[in-house]
Amino acid sequence: MDAKEVKSTISNLEKSVDETTILKLLNILNDEVVPTEKLLRETKVGVVVNKYRSHDNKEISSLVKKMIRSWRDAVQNEKNSKKKSTASSPVSTPASSGSAASTTVPNADKSGSGPAANGKTFTGPRNAKSDGVNTTLYDNPTRNASVGALYSSLAVERDDSPQHIITIASEIESEVFKSEYSKVNDAYRNKLRSFTMNLRNKKNPELRERVLSRQIGAAQFIKMTPNDMAPEALKKEIEKLHKQNLFDAQGATEKRAVTDRFTCGKCKHKKVSYYQMQTRSADEPLTTFCTCENCGNRWKFS
Ligand SMILES: [Zn+2]
Repeated sequence: MDAKEVKSTISNLEKSVDETTILKLLNILNDEVVPTEKLLRETKVGVVVNKYRSHDNKEISSLVKKMIRSWRDAVQNEKNSKKKSTASSPVSTPASSGSAASTTVPNADKSGSGPAANGKTFTGPRNAKSDGVNTTLYDNPTRNASVGALYSSLAVERDDSPQHIITIASEIESEVFKSEYSKVNDAYRNKLRSFTMNLRNKKNPELRERVLSRQIGAAQFIKMTPNDMAPEALKKEIEKLHKQNLFDAQGATEKRAVTDRFTCGKCKHKKVSYYQMQTRSADEPLTTFCTCENCGNRWKFS
């Protein structure tokens, strides 16, 4: 079917009122249209067909949903392969190609179109709105906003299906809500803030992976402290620092030295041995432990 034929078919479709004719014309379009970006853009067939997605007749609405989904996937695939072949060319502009795909075929498919078609081709970061996902799950706007925030955080650099992300996001929100005895209070807000912040951390893809793969279930996740959630790389760094500190402390005890800089408070002798140690956190001054070599008096200062 060329553009002219497509146009005349959709013009007939728009004039049709009885469901049998509508269904017949939609089936013709479904069978005959070879979905390319050029054809869809030129004929606006996607936009016209999409008007029937909420039709009372279930046969019509489900056919339309199927058609839109497969056309959109075809256009995305076309985009992706084009992008690959021109990857080295500086002329390729992902910004314009991304938006072109979404204007050619309406992005109204709430059920999601599978992982491949989403995320990568859109220029901005993914969120529930850009994925066409409904986050109005409750009467409470704060709870809905929390689900939306979790959604965008979980979606960072991910290509999981919108359905999967919304499922995980709402599970986490529900668990937090339950843990606060079904109240939206300050503790609820603080927890949500901490979880969304940690989940959307670009340096922490491991956390998103473990939560989205359910390696960490929602109930377990909401019990995690910021330290538990820290990226593996950061954890290793902390561990290394900790070991280093212990080593330094041990090293210090071996470096016990005698000096005449200190005076014993008891016998006033100046033959005092001492060592220094990190007794509190790393950024606080060292503590000096002194022993009088004459009378055995011990003291410390920092
Ligand atoms: Zn002394």
